[in-house]
Amino acid sequence: MSEDYCGVKFSVDFIKKSAPKSSTELKQLIKWCHFFDKHQLAPPYPDGSAGNLSFRINPEKNEFIITGTQIGLKNNLTENQFVKVIDVDFSNLKIKVNGFIKPSSESMLHWAIYNVRPEINAIFHGHSLEILEKAKENNWTITKNEVPYGTPELVKEVLNIIDNQDFVILKNHGFLAFGKTMEEAGNLCKKAIF
Ligand SMILES: [Zn+2]
Repeated sequence: MSEDYCGVKFSVDFIKKSAPKSSTELKQLIKWCHFFDKHQLAPPYPDGSAGNLSFRINPEKNEFIITGTQIGLKNNLTENQFVKVIDVDFSNLKIKVNGFIKPSSESMLHWAIYNVRPEINAIFHGHSLEILEKAKENNWTITKNEVPYGTPELVKEVLNIIDNQDFVILKNHGFLAFGKTMEEAGNLCKKAIF
């Protein structure tokens, strides 16, 4: 396996090496990461990727705070394990951030979704065989093709199906929940597993 097989598939430009400030929102995000861990909604894949959760902080610029790459979702996350994504340059696969570590490998996907859905302020992505198995009976929309995580191809697959839906399935991969608030996105995940 070549080294670039794992982790993020874009280059990261660190504007500031600083963690996002503690805030009510970040505390809430940490709480939902804990929820994902507790209910095994983001077990790490063999290639190292796990789930990723974000909330939007500036609608005008699509800035958001997201889990760092390969941190694993545990119950004791601190601010240092989150990254502020400032901008994404799709044509050159470059991301500008403030943070100590690289942002989640799906940061381009989060940015693209915030870009087409201005009312969305929270995106939660996880992996659950149980949810994948229940997709058909629940009529959740599924992406047409299975493509590698963290790629522009995956972004395209998702943008093709999301419309105004708030819970969609990535074929043979996982799920995405959207909300105006983290509570909304989290409750969709709860509904999917309970
Ligand atoms: Zn994934």
